[in-house]
Amino acid sequence: MTKYIFVTGGVVSSLGKGITAASLGVLLKRRGYRVSIIKMDPYINVDAGAMSPFQHGEVFVTVDGAETDLDLGHYERFIDEAIMGDNSCTTGKVYSAVIQRERAGGYGGATVQVIPHITNEIQDRIERVGKGKDVVIAEIGGTVGDIEGLPYLEAIRQLAGRVGRGNILYCHVTLVPYIAASGELKTKPTQHSVNELRRIGIQPDIIVCRSQYTVGAELREKIGLFCSVPAGAVFEAIDSDSIYRIPIVLHSQKFDDLVLEKLGLPGDNAPDMKDWEEFLHKYDNRKGELTVALVGKYTEIKDAYLSVNEAVSHAGIANGVKVKMMPVASEDLEAPGAEKILEGADAVLVPGGFGQRGVEGMIVAAKYAREHNVPYFGLCLGMQIAVIEFARNVLGLSGANSLEMDENTENPVIYLMEEQKNVTDVGGTSRLGAYPCDITAGSRSEKIYGANHIEERHRHRFEFNNSYIEEFDAAGMKVAGVCPTGGQVEIMENVNHPWMIGVQFHPEFLSRPVKPHPLFNAFIAAALDIQKKKEAK
Ligand code: GLN
Repeated sequence: MTKYIFVTGGVVSSLGKGITAASLGVLLKRRGYRVSIIKMDPYINVDAGAMSPFQHGEVFVTVDGAETDLDLGHYERFIDEAIMGDNSCTTGKVYSAVIQRERAGGYGGATVQVIPHITNEIQDRIERVGKGKDVVIAEIGGTVGDIEGLPYLEAIRQLAGRVGRGNILYCHVTLVPYIAASGELKTKPTQHSVNELRRIGIQPDIIVCRSQYTVGAELREKIGLFCSVPAGAVFEAIDSDSIYRIPIVLHSQKFDDLVLEKLGLPGDNAPDMKDWEEFLHKYDNRKGELTVALVGKYTEIKDAYLSVNEAVSHAGIANGVKVKMMPVASEDLEAPGAEKILEGADAVLVPGGFGQRGVEGMIVAAKYAREHNVPYFGLCLGMQIAVIEFARNVLGLSGANSLEMDENTENPVIYLMEEQKNVTDVGGTSRLGAYPCDITAGSRSEKIYGANHIEERHRHRFEFNNSYIEEFDAAGMKVAGVCPTGGQVEIMENVNHPWMIGVQFHPEFLSRPVKPHPLFNAFIAAALDIQKKKEAK
């Protein structure tokens, strides 16, 4: 019998519900349970694909090519399993399915309503991801009390009728704010948000208090009393310097023990968190600092490059060094002499992006990195940038367009993929998801991956123009990876440079704290090596 854990949030958003859900996921997985984790997003967009990073942060891409909320990235990094598109449920997906079914006559003439049709569809989707799993963890996006979240709360309340209340656990994550004027932590907002939950028929089993300071026994008693849970079911999640500490923090309070007990699941096996503890130990013992310039369009938005930042940080920890990300708005590099901004950087990373804005500045960054032997890592758009820069400044090619908008260039080095030419819809129409890649024997990438066949995730419309392969090759910019199914160039390496690699895919999605991605690892190692050599001089 599959068990269900629902994680709701109260008082304010951005409380770390996703991290709580992911932490519970890793703890249960490492106690031997088969865990599935699903995010329910109350927005009407079908997926996050067409959402601006300015509003919604990064778009996370799953193996099966869904463009999802960034919380799925946290889930994958914590649980270390590929999470599929079905694990992202949005109001847009739910309504689309219900309306399609209605049009096809699937409701037999009934009046189609939020209750029961929308709430049933939500429950079906939750149950579907639980097939073959012991536990489903479902995070309900937004905050309790939001109008658009109501159908989800109603659905998870009703699910108790389908699967039995004993097979469900409601975990409410709330804020316990510190009021500086009185020097106190306040429980009232928690009481109110739990009341809001109870008003719609959900009595939480567990309360997780996000707070700046420790929530003492007395406060837990009080919260327990007002919210009708035992004080032992009130946990604290104090602000932490690393999200990866949260599973350990929760486990030390016996959080996972109580969850299992409440669900009637055996809790005999302690979770095996040895590698996780080792990772945190390395995190605490990093020495020195490395500066990586992150040259992109959305650098002022903290979450816009979330997976990239995480992947760099994982690699830094594996290399024993603290990596400081230096955000550089690419447009700032377009002024004459502006490349000076990059002088403090030990490495340059150009992440993915869409549109023409800022592209010229990224090309300046690639030129700077190439000419100054600074390690350069280009992800998706970042690879295309390295190619254009090389075409312009090394090969002197006229086909070096300034990327997507420039339709006047004849035979451009980066062009729109054939299958993209007639695409008009923006959502879900790029080359998306995991594709295989054959790595060239003898390439740097072969050494780095220690493999000849890999699989990485994609999200792009443009690609390298294969008619230029030989010309680039002769000048030292070599193809190091090709997709065996479609022939797309996937990896380019500049062999006349200490470390200049561009990849058409998004390796950042595969990095895990305890399993950093080989390319990021090698990138940071190369920068560290050069920094050490400079210091030794
Ligand atoms: N805009 C480029 C393309 O569509 C790069 C996409 C990306 O970086 N994800 O090919």
